[in-house]
Amino acid sequence: MSKELTIQTYGAPVLREKAVAVETVTPELRKLAKDMVFTMHRANGVGLAAQQVGRTESVCVIDVPAEYDVEERGKGGERLNPDVEMPLVLFNPRIVEASEDETAAQEEGCLSFPGINGSVERPWRVRVAYLDLDGRERETELVGFVARAAQHEIDHLEGTLFIDRFKYVKKLAVRGKLKKLKEETLEGLAEA
Ligand SMILES: [Zn+2]
Repeated sequence: MSKELTIQTYGAPVLREKAVAVETVTPELRKLAKDMVFTMHRANGVGLAAQQVGRTESVCVIDVPAEYDVEERGKGGERLNPDVEMPLVLFNPRIVEASEDETAAQEEGCLSFPGINGSVERPWRVRVAYLDLDGRERETELVGFVARAAQHEIDHLEGTLFIDRFKYVKKLAVRGKLKKLKEETLEGLAEA
């Protein structure tokens, strides 16, 4: 049975920790990944990284619905990543190649930042190396929104948050909301 994990919100110190590479994909880590997928689905998210559930092993999960996996959401069209099976479970993911000259700015949200979203510019295409659930080394090319989700989650594993990538004006605009969220998080942690 999968277990719903507690999602850490902005202000929780663990969100700024760097993940530690896993040496082998143990049954315990497989269980963690499954619980993360379960938790992500329950929260209607498209991605979740270890720190967001209070852990620091290098693992993230992604599940992008088919209707997001197109050039422009809501417009239909060809799948950009027809061969990528969801959910994706990535241990020790790292970006080995990114289309620095081909980028896109798009609105992102984050389960650790309820009620906050903002546009982030990222490479459109990335190549990610990782270990899969069976501990096999894999390399996959990801495009569009799926590439964005992978970059957002890999950022988490580095302790980087999407708000760090907001433009200055956007940072100013969300400052009040962030302060409030951080206070609520710290209150919650103090009570726990
Ligand atoms: Zn996030």
